Amino acid sequence: MTQIVTRFAPSPTGLLHLGHAYSALFAWKIAQKRGGRFLMRLEDIDINRCRPNFVADLHQDLAWLGLRWPTPVRQQSHHFAFYQKALEDLKRMGVLYPCFCTRKDLERELTDMFGAPHYAPSGPDGPLYPGTCRTLTDDQRSQQLATGKAHAWRLNMDKALFRASRSGQDLSWIDERAGLQPLAAELMGDIVLGRKDIPTSYHLAVTLDDHLQGITLVTRGRDLFPASHIHRLLQILFGLDHPRWYHHDLVKDAQGQRMAKRRQSLSLKAMREAGQTAEEVMAKLDLSKAF
Ligand code: GLU
Repeated sequence: MTQIVTRFAPSPTGLLHLGHAYSALFAWKIAQKRGGRFLMRLEDIDINRCRPNFVADLHQDLAWLGLRWPTPVRQQSHHFAFYQKALEDLKRMGVLYPCFCTRKDLERELTDMFGAPHYAPSGPDGPLYPGTCRTLTDDQRSQQLATGKAHAWRLNMDKALFRASRSGQDLSWIDERAGLQPLAAELMGDIVLGRKDIPTSYHLAVTLDDHLQGITLVTRGRDLFPASHIHRLLQILFGLDHPRWYHHDLVKDAQGQRMAKRRQSLSLKAMREAGQTAEEVMAKLDLSKAF
């Protein structure tokens, strides 16, 4: 049997909190329990929001929790050319289209179509893209591209699913907790795979890197469950072999709300600077019930 490889892949856009500690320890412990390996990866594609001090802090937080990982750590911002190449491959397959919409355009379009953006058909991450740029003619598309207008690259979900259905590959994936999942990527709509500012997005980079790094079990919070449908679809399009997944519960704060960087949830840094021990944190998280 192949050796299990897990990973924790934080984005250095803020300080880590208890929710991250749970995710990191979950990946670490499950690898240990099954005699496998644990990797750490920096998902820092969002160059405007990532900060070097958050990288330094998260290294200290994870070491404080007792985690160890092989170095050098893969840092996504050093590999844009690699993601760009994959994006070109998808363009050649004919499953991407350029999208020139701005946030304002989208709001206007959704308001025109549905009365207000929040009445529009919605996916796990908010209103689904209404398809404005999908229906441009070839001429309109070339004209817009020729003007140099900023554009993202979106997946044409119908075309991608059609191609997947003809690939002869497995149109499902396995979550070790929730069981067999028939592919349902359409619930995410025409997602962005190449952003306006960088030649990738979370979905593309995470799928390629998990493959490149030989991850056999992708563990992460339940909030990312729907994203795994997209990742499985991308694996099919690229013909990559697939890992298994385990989406774990999310840590809630005293008010029953899930931890979030933007809500300034109590950080691991603050806990360690206040003299708390890693053992106290682990007791609070009680991973023994996790698996
Ligand atoms: N960088 C992502 C995050 O911090 C990782 C998600 C994943 O594990 O796939 O949410």
